Amino acid sequence: MSEKITLTIGKKKNIALIAHDGKKADLVEWCKKNADILKNHNLCGTGTTARLITDCTGLTVKGYNSGPLGGDQQIGAKIVEGMVDFVVFLSDPLTAAPHDPDVKALMRIAQVYDIPFADNKATADFMIHSSYMDEEYDHEVINFKQNIEDRVQTMR
Ligand code: PGA
Repeated sequence: MSEKITLTIGKKKNIALIAHDGKKADLVEWCKKNADILKNHNLCGTGTTARLITDCTGLTVKGYNSGPLGGDQQIGAKIVEGMVDFVVFLSDPLTAAPHDPDVKALMRIAQVYDIPFADNKATADFMIHSSYMDEEYDHEVINFKQNIEDRVQTMR
């Protein structure tokens, strides 16, 4: 049983925005609607999504690689590093994506690190209007350093 540590999601969130092609227009609309809230947080996203949101809303969104070229993995790595702590990912359940394993990996790592993660618009609406958006939020996450200690002890 791995020990837990308490991590804090700050008042200013580090939000990743991602949408599959069939959902990009929905995410742009959602960002327009919620621009007054989003502008108070740090925004990033996969390449195409980030650029579209910036062009259509004026919000500053740091862009990583395009999703199929590793952008989802880059955002997953940022979750591991504690640099992304809130994700809105409007994935398209009706279209096959070449980078499906990357999408699953991102969802999985968001679970491991207990990150708020919206995979549809309704969840994103509930999350963005949560009172936690204006507060710090403490959550319990697996103590990754202790986890390595414990594993090494069982193996040598
Ligand atoms: P994109 O990537 O924003 O570069 O289109 C999104 C995705 O398909 O994961």
